[in-house]
Amino acid sequence: MEYLKGINQVNTGDGNKDREMLLGEIAILQTVLESTSASIFAFDKNFNYIAFNQSHQQTVKMGRGVDLKIGDNYLEIAKLNGGMDGEKTAEIFRRVMTGETVELIEEFGDPELYRASFSMICNPMYDKEGLVNGMTVFCQDISERVQLQKEFEEKSRLLNGVLENLPVIIYETDAAGIFTRSIGSGLKALGLQDNGLVGQNSIEVFSSAADMLCNGLCGKHGQFISTFEVDGRKLVYQNNFFPSPEQESCLIGFALDITQQEMAEEELRKAQDELERTVDLLDTSQRISKAGGWEYEVSTGAVYRTRFLKLLSGVPDEITTLEKAVSFYREVDAEAIKEGIRNAIKFQKSYNLELRAAREDKWLRSIGIPIVKDGKTVKVMGAVLDISDRKLAEIELLKAKEIAEDAAMAKQQFLSNMSHEIRTPMNAVIGMTHLLLQEDPKPEQLENLNILKFSSESLLSLINDILDYSKIELGKIVFEDIEFNLIELVNRIKQAHNLQAEGKGLIFKVKIDSELPSVLVGDPVRLTQILNNLVSNALKFTNEGSVVVDLSLKKIEGDTVEVNFMVTDTGIGIDPDLKEYIFESFTQAAPDTSRRFGGTGLGLAITKRLVELQGSEISLQSTLGKGSSFYFDLKFRKENKKEGSVNAMPAHVFASLGGYKVLLVEDNEINTIVASKFMRRWDLDIDYAADGIEALEKVTENEYDLVLMDLQMPRMDGYAASRAIRDLPGKRFKELPIIALTASVLAEINRKVLDAGMNDYISKPFNPTELYTKIAQYLSWRS
Ligand code: ADP
Repeated sequence: MEYLKGINQVNTGDGNKDREMLLGEIAILQTVLESTSASIFAFDKNFNYIAFNQSHQQTVKMGRGVDLKIGDNYLEIAKLNGGMDGEKTAEIFRRVMTGETVELIEEFGDPELYRASFSMICNPMYDKEGLVNGMTVFCQDISERVQLQKEFEEKSRLLNGVLENLPVIIYETDAAGIFTRSIGSGLKALGLQDNGLVGQNSIEVFSSAADMLCNGLCGKHGQFISTFEVDGRKLVYQNNFFPSPEQESCLIGFALDITQQEMAEEELRKAQDELERTVDLLDTSQRISKAGGWEYEVSTGAVYRTRFLKLLSGVPDEITTLEKAVSFYREVDAEAIKEGIRNAIKFQKSYNLELRAAREDKWLRSIGIPIVKDGKTVKVMGAVLDISDRKLAEIELLKAKEIAEDAAMAKQQFLSNMSHEIRTPMNAVIGMTHLLLQEDPKPEQLENLNILKFSSESLLSLINDILDYSKIELGKIVFEDIEFNLIELVNRIKQAHNLQAEGKGLIFKVKIDSELPSVLVGDPVRLTQILNNLVSNALKFTNEGSVVVDLSLKKIEGDTVEVNFMVTDTGIGIDPDLKEYIFESFTQAAPDTSRRFGGTGLGLAITKRLVELQGSEISLQSTLGKGSSFYFDLKFRKENKKEGSVNAMPAHVFASLGGYKVLLVEDNEINTIVASKFMRRWDLDIDYAADGIEALEKVTENEYDLVLMDLQMPRMDGYAASRAIRDLPGKRFKELPIIALTASVLAEINRKVLDAGMNDYISKPFNPTELYTKIAQYLSWRS
């Protein structure tokens, strides 16, 4: 072996024996050097090898296939083999020269063949004089160790990362369950540092898992959840433990802080509970309100519905199609919904439809609204309401309303017919009474005739009241809009009641504000009725003193004239408690009123409604025993015509109407007699016709100044006859005044009369003054 050459050259100079001993030692040393895997070699000052072992020789040969010999230069070999570079070697050698032992770890070797980490120990070699003349090197490949070290460091780094960043506690216990180690950042939450649990008993710390831990100490592994309360905060740990692989009956475990996760789960549980409660509530409210919700997703065509709707439609699918969702409706209605949804998507329009189910007797309301995002309809959302109950009730109500209306109509018709039937004979009774009174009756007859007159007039006013009241109740009353002379109207009322006032010895006065325009536009008939009622009540309930009708101008605004009417008496007065009460129908202030004063209790009810229907209200001021004052305001339109042109004829002056020829068309003989008796008094020339046909003939054959036309007649009625007259050729037939005589009280009579071409109408039984005024008015216009 080459290295032995170096060793054999050692000159001991101590004789053979010593030499043998030395050789023996060298042999031992040689064996040791050859049996190690480390490279051992030595070189002189010039870096020429003086010794090397087999391991080193092999390493060198393995590199470039060079066979190493004593005397080879280390630096050249190292260069060839990728060993330590020359400069570094020289540097080490310089240090070794000073007697230093240099230890270092160095990575070298040919990267293409074998490169590794080596641990090197370099020692000086001395000559006989004790001077350093070379260097021994002990070089060992420590790559494996370095690798292991690296792996260990890597694992430690990972573990430390886990321990520092995960809220975990890793612990060890002894056989009695006493903590012997505890590390990990999970300890911080418990206010502890590493090993902060050491010395405590794990069975006490995790008391809820004591049994399990005891089993763990007997060699079983397990897991449990433990909780701690720290500063009022609950901390939750997930524990896993297993028997220590190194020490028998000891435990290793780790506890992971899962408080955050638990809290999140708790929140989730709460949110779920909340959601369930909301869904329950929604279901209940939908069941009660019979309404459900739905949503149509445009991109997928999927339909989502609430539970109520699924039950209602009988389509239980969680998600369904539009086609299936609307299959519950009648075909036309299903189409209407689809159309509604199409419009909602295309034009972003909502819909609201009333629909019916296909099989059941159900009515439903379906409402849909578009949900728009970035200008596009992404969803259509809506509700379905089961409106069957309401709808059925509505239908029932409608039926009931129709029945009630039919009944009311029948009643109205009956009243109208009855009025006609009653009023015609009343006409005769009142008319004849008037005539008899004017024919100079004997004194004993006069009283009877007066009673007859009073009774028949009372009866007529009662009939009128009842008819009026029922008309008001039915809402059938229509107010006229015609010209009238207010002053004349009030004077006529005064005249009508003068006799009564005189009979009772009362002062009866009318005061008219000079500012008031006399010609107004409104409903004179209804105004007369209101004032008549109030005046007749005032006279009825006053035994001494006065009754005053006071008209004053409240204001004029443009064309509108507001007039204040006040009827004041010094009569018996009205108890303040009964003020409201007397305006109700069929009520009187005292139970004996009817017996003492007559009346039905309808007058004020009618008066109040008539004032109210004209947009005003009636008020009352009264002191029991001192008198009463009824007052109200009414608005009229001002007529700008010359005053006095309407109804200008003074009612009480029955001036002769001689020279005029009148045709009286009337089928009822008594009516004919009554009317003609009056008219003859006014010197009128009267001709007669018993029906429309006869009237038409007579009108054609003769020249009349006026026609009084009954409406209900056999063969041809008054309407048809008037139309026929107007249709006759010639101007005179268009201008001939035709006044209808009617017993009807229906509101539409005025319109019907005018529609048939007639000029006016007079109610039967007629008041002679009214009959005279109307005839005179139309005749005067002709002349
Ligand atoms: P009636 O037909 O009984 O007069 P009204 O409705 O006109 O019915 O009047 C109702 C009641 O109001 C009368 O019965 C009477 O008791 C009372 N009343 C009406 N006007 C007066 C008045 N001017 N003075 C005293 N009491 C009156």
